[in-house]
Amino acid sequence: MKIRVGVRTDIGRARERNEDAYLVREPLFAVADGMGGHRGGNVASRIALETLRSFDGPPGPDARKTLVEDIRTANTRVLERGEADRDLRGMGTTITAVLIDQGTALVGHVGDSRAYLLRDGALRQLTEDHTLVRQLVREGRLSPEQAIRHPQRGVVTRAVGVEEHIDVDEFPVELRPGDRLLLCTDGLTGMLSDEAIQEILRDQEDPQLACDRLVEAANQAGGEDNITAILVDVLDRDEATEASAISLPPAPPPAPKRRSIVLKAAAAAIVIIVAAWFGVRVYVNHQWYVGDSGGRVAIYHGVPATILGLKLHHVARTTDLSATEARQLQPWAGIEEGITADSFGQAESIVDQIRADLTGSSIGSTG
Ligand code: MN
Repeated sequence: MKIRVGVRTDIGRARERNEDAYLVREPLFAVADGMGGHRGGNVASRIALETLRSFDGPPGPDARKTLVEDIRTANTRVLERGEADRDLRGMGTTITAVLIDQGTALVGHVGDSRAYLLRDGALRQLTEDHTLVRQLVREGRLSPEQAIRHPQRGVVTRAVGVEEHIDVDEFPVELRPGDRLLLCTDGLTGMLSDEAIQEILRDQEDPQLACDRLVEAANQAGGEDNITAILVDVLDRDEATEASAISLPPAPPPAPKRRSIVLKAAAAAIVIIVAAWFGVRVYVNHQWYVGDSGGRVAIYHGVPATILGLKLHHVARTTDLSATEARQLQPWAGIEEGITADSFGQAESIVDQIRADLTGSSIGSTG
């Protein structure tokens, strides 16, 4: 199968670093969008794609298994690195990968980067976003229109390197000559509608120039995040691949039933309030805070909120310190709502500080 590839990554207009990474190593193509404070995001996306780079799987039916296994290996490597280095704790990354195997593209996917197929001029999203807003849309609690520019659309529900067990979406797509496969990070799709992407892909025949135009358009629209796009053009297919006819993945679920406008508005309002509270790009899995767990000071993983019944946190470590006593000290009055931290390490230092202050105050009151 003859293919032609274009690729472009760009820091965008708002970020200090480019935490996206990409891999173009025929027959494997992948994008990764790293997340996590300090240098964590950078490290996570690069470790993940380094793991995939070593891919040397057999062609045929086993290739698919190997791709998913490699993503699982990437998960373990990112997780272990994060556990070994306090600065990197809580980092993670998305991965959207395609392996071109004869006439088929095997897709492996975790997170909110995307794979699209442009066929006969029509663009179709192949992957499902693993995001909170997508989940709410599926459950009928948010309309697809509300989800598109939702301030909290960056909250991912699944990422590589966050938990030991990982679900990897995988499916084959039968390729035809003339198909264009686009892999991209949310810095592109957050700025451009599917219609805008489709127009550029229809318009610009050269895959490299098409990637350049996608990135330029996303920057013109604001460039709020790092932007990465890989475009794989299928030029023709060899005879041998005719037999491997595999259908497209199932169509996206039908649009949710209409709920009352009041309910939708209320749901949207709650999500927006929480989003405004914690910032635009909140990765639940990469947030920490110090709060009150049954009267004790505790370190929580997540954000101190529950959105529409979804609890966005769990206790990572409890301490022997009394939350009631800590609350009485002026700097720690906020413990009831949760004192947010950038990392587990920072949360630990907050606890150390509380411990020091509590000790100080008890010395003061007794002595
Ligand atoms: Mn991104």
